[in-house]
Amino acid sequence: MDKVDDLKKSATFTHELGHVFGINHVSSSAKIMYSSLIGRTVYTPQNDDIAGMNF
Ligand SMILES: [Zn+2]
Repeated sequence: MDKVDDLKKSATFTHELGHVFGINHVSSSAKIMYSSLIGRTVYTPQNDDIAGMNF
């Protein structure tokens, strides 16, 4: 399996998990909670993503 594909799958899981924790989409493509996988530039939660859990 392609390593990048693996990363994207786990990023999608992390993104969906974010919704479970009540995090909404963000407009920055540099965040895991960006609305689209296409164009998202990160595959792991960023500090802001984690901070979003406390909103
Ligand atoms: Zn989403």
